[in-house]
Amino acid sequence: MCKPVLVAGIVGDSITDGPGIRMTVFVQGCPHHCEGCHNPETHPFEGGKPYTPQELLEKLDKNPLLSGVTLSGGEPFSQAGALLPLADGVRARGLELAAYSGWTFEELVQQGGDALALLSLCNVLVDGRFVLAERSLSLRFRGSRNQRIVDVQKSLAAGEVVLMHDGRWQ
Ligand code: SF4
Repeated sequence: MCKPVLVAGIVGDSITDGPGIRMTVFVQGCPHHCEGCHNPETHPFEGGKPYTPQELLEKLDKNPLLSGVTLSGGEPFSQAGALLPLADGVRARGLELAAYSGWTFEELVQQGGDALALLSLCNVLVDGRFVLAERSLSLRFRGSRNQRIVDVQKSLAAGEVVLMHDGRWQ
């Protein structure tokens, strides 16, 4: 029996959390408490609604127009172990998996364990805390200039951050 994911909300057809039409899963719980966060209601690790990975995949399978799934929050990597079966299922369906994290790529690699396992299944990581002083409304798919859109697979292969050059993410 898979551990449930504590979910703050699901958007079944998002066009703001990555290119194309995506299912975005906002997880409940975030340890970062960035000043100016847009989703403060997702900070407590209590609350939210539990979903099994199977339930989330069933939602995914109901929309054949989806091009990918985005894990957002909250902090997805605080529930990395519970998200692994969902991430596996997304990749098995040939869909792009993106994740937002307040931790940087380097911090997630250093955490190892489930965090690294989840990272390894992602195609794209938008990393780093939201920094109010670096906020810009002109940025696409990220809130502040310090955040990076990372090509995860190339970065893991290179052993250092490689930014996403795919024009869909610019
Ligand atoms: S990491 Fe994201 S959800 Fe968490 S406090 Fe920062 S902006 Fe908010």
